[in-house]
Amino acid sequence: MAYSTKAKEFYTSELKGMRASGTFKEERYIQSPQAANIKVEYPLGAAPKEVINFCANNYLGLSSHPEVVEAAHKGLDTRGYGMSSVRFICGTQDIHHELEKKLTEFLGTEDTILFASCMDANAAIFDVVLDKDDAMIADRLVHASIVDGIKLCKAQLYNYKHSNMAHLEEKLQEASGCRLRMIITDGVFSMDGDIAKLDKIVELAEKYEAMILVDDSHATGFMGKHGRGSHEYYNVVGKIDVITTTLGKALGGASGGCVSGRREIVELCRQRARPYLFSNTVPPVIVAAARKVLDVISITTDRRDKLEANTKYFREKITQAGFDIKEGVHPIVPIMLYNAKLAQDMAHDLYGEGIYVIGFSFPVVPKGQARIRVQISAAHEQEHLDTAITAFTKIGEKYKILGKKKEEIIQMYGL
Ligand SMILES: *Cc1c(COP(=O)(O)O)cnc(C)c1O
Repeated sequence: MAYSTKAKEFYTSELKGMRASGTFKEERYIQSPQAANIKVEYPLGAAPKEVINFCANNYLGLSSHPEVVEAAHKGLDTRGYGMSSVRFICGTQDIHHELEKKLTEFLGTEDTILFASCMDANAAIFDVVLDKDDAMIADRLVHASIVDGIKLCKAQLYNYKHSNMAHLEEKLQEASGCRLRMIITDGVFSMDGDIAKLDKIVELAEKYEAMILVDDSHATGFMGKHGRGSHEYYNVVGKIDVITTTLGKALGGASGGCVSGRREIVELCRQRARPYLFSNTVPPVIVAAARKVLDVISITTDRRDKLEANTKYFREKITQAGFDIKEGVHPIVPIMLYNAKLAQDMAHDLYGEGIYVIGFSFPVVPKGQARIRVQISAAHEQEHLDTAITAFTKIGEKYKILGKKKEEIIQMYGL
């Protein structure tokens, strides 16, 4: 046996270190479909408890939508369970092609290629389109999957300060000697819910002849008038060269992702993208359901409108209740608590009140920026939101932080 005592002890101490520093992640078992009301077993072994879910990426409430579930059943019945192949051998059905066409239309791009996840799409794209003579100019806070994709690419990396357009311009100038340049950003940043300044980024891209890649995982389906994404929100549809996004959030929440954008880039991905060439095809059941999702959200904007109204309502009420939130328009609502233990304790107490939220602290967010991240959904009714506001107010009072500013909270609880 080659699993030595030394190896075992090393891994055990790694795990122990995580537990000691409070970064060990404990999973909770949900015993119901993903929805506004869920049944959760927590702590493990306890009787399941009904709570309102405020931490899913189920933005449009489509994760368990009857029409989507029915489409999935139909897909299973007519196209089978697994494809047992990558796309280019015998893993492409008519419905895969149709879903790619629907995504292209919805996103307002030229062409689309599916991946097993957006993580895979991001792992693939940079190595396909850029080489050592080229430049990647990325926002410092891009998603972990982009960070990994960047590592797999030989192009030179330039980082600009988060959403700092002057710094981006500096980096574009520094990279002016490179053959091709690509600006890389999330459309919406998941910890703060802030939106990349795509109008300014497009201006700079045109000035310095750079391409733009936007990972719109936290925007596709609901940002912008028709929910196309952050490019629609900023009125720059057609000007983003590459969009990567996920089917795992607003678009039904199962799994799958894509690269959508310039025709040649997508075509090159089909030839060269390693996670596409060497990993199995998205299963028919997901493809069939995702097609239905796009139909549902293309016919009417009711769901994204409801999400927008819910978000506005919650942001107003929680602010009136005296909480310090990061301002914005996105359904990610960061409730700032600064102190990691305070965030943990409050999330725990809120769970006791039937509100399922999670406290985030370092290393997920910067030190001294601990928070509870609330995520609003179109699945929430006003009663859900009101119940949450009441519970937050009760727990906020318990910890005496209502109406307190950042400095006061830090003075009371430390960093
Ligand atoms: C969730 C997320 C991903 C990963 O998407 P998967 O399809 O689950 O792999 C990638 N990028 C961003 C910005 C995300 O928020």
